[in-house]
Amino acid sequence: MTTEISRRGLIGMGLGAALIPAVSRAQTAKEKGGVGFAIVGLGKLSQGQLIPAFRNTRTARLAGLVSGHPEKAQDIAEQHQLPSGAVYTYADFDRIAADPSIDVVYIVLPNFMHAEYTIRALKAGKHVLCEKPMATTIGDAERMIAAAKAANRHLMVAYRCHYEPLNLAGMRLLRSGRLGKPRLVVTDMGRNADPSDPSDAWRLDMMKSGGGALTDMGIYGVNGARYVLNEEPLEVEAWSQTDKSDPRFRDVVDFYSWQFRFPSGAIAAGSTSFNYAATMSWHVISEHGKMKADPGCFYSGNRLTVSEGMDPEIREIDQFAREMDWMAAVVRGRAPMVSTAEEGLQDMRLMNAIMESAARGGATVATNFGFRRPVDPAAVVDVVPA
Ligand code: NDP
Repeated sequence: MTTEISRRGLIGMGLGAALIPAVSRAQTAKEKGGVGFAIVGLGKLSQGQLIPAFRNTRTARLAGLVSGHPEKAQDIAEQHQLPSGAVYTYADFDRIAADPSIDVVYIVLPNFMHAEYTIRALKAGKHVLCEKPMATTIGDAERMIAAAKAANRHLMVAYRCHYEPLNLAGMRLLRSGRLGKPRLVVTDMGRNADPSDPSDAWRLDMMKSGGGALTDMGIYGVNGARYVLNEEPLEVEAWSQTDKSDPRFRDVVDFYSWQFRFPSGAIAAGSTSFNYAATMSWHVISEHGKMKADPGCFYSGNRLTVSEGMDPEIREIDQFAREMDWMAAVVRGRAPMVSTAEEGLQDMRLMNAIMESAARGGATVATNFGFRRPVDPAAVVDVVPA
């Protein structure tokens, strides 16, 4: 306690970094029994959702910040009682290798930067939690997976819906067979992009986003159809539409619509756009019943309606906190990896297939890439193992 008070005093005087050796911070993290996370990129998601979520984590603890804007990072560090030595820039990022208080590096950068910082963090000996989409190219995703293997470190992709109670309840109800065989899944994920918002400007740049609305929002539907059905599609047909007179869509496609065919005979129809009203919904029609999640993938306030008498009880939680605690449990060897890097690569391949089919006017593209999800989230994700 005394150490803690004196450290805060030093930080207040701007002397924290110089006077507090890394090991003392490490001891504090270990004393608290936590797994230390460094957040890389302090934009909307980090400031709005992830950093606040550490209030609700049990094991994951904020241990570092990486930013191109040191003043902003120092402010956030002070608010969260982090010493200034826990703040890194992109230039001195590799210094985290010597910081034992950081176990996991959480990459929350624009998509085109995911691969570089994931690989640098792995080379620094850290585990990595990487935001979706895991990369902007399949080659980058493969290099990230190879780097994790070479470093013998965990690489998890931040598919928060794998940890979100409504989505888990929907998966469990379908797996129970009470609705019969799922025949049709429909996923619609999009919103209106605002080019004057810097956070959207890179999303409207093909090189930086890897695919506009598809890689930003459509990915929830591509991944969602797969976890709802718990199988992988055999082929896809897709179409796109772009209003080139809209300055937002000089570089990226405005609207994609697709259909996946699954081995069970189920069809998943999906759409995504940066030019339609904000929507994150999915619904399923099965042989004997149906369910609708609308909204289905928001940060909170999701709603599930199921055929009469079958509404499951759902208790809302902080899905970001559970996701980070799950990663912490994976690192401690107490939980299986659920949202694997291979899962992220599978979505990259499927989104590429959607783009290819649409570019060829709806041509059928084979999508049997041999991926099988090793662990069904519905079977394991609940209370995070202590
Ligand atoms: P923002 O644009 O709001 O934030 C990105 C941050 O990255 C910036 O604030 C900046 O932080 C840093 N950065 C470093 N270099 C650049 C650069 N060249 N251009 C722009 N930013 C740069 O994005 P979001 O927070 O909305 O998204 C970040 C990632 O999180 C994306 O991959 C996105 O797909 C994902 N995401 C996931 C969500 C989910 O629900 N799982 C929801 C929203 C986003 P600094 O100033 O600190 O350097």
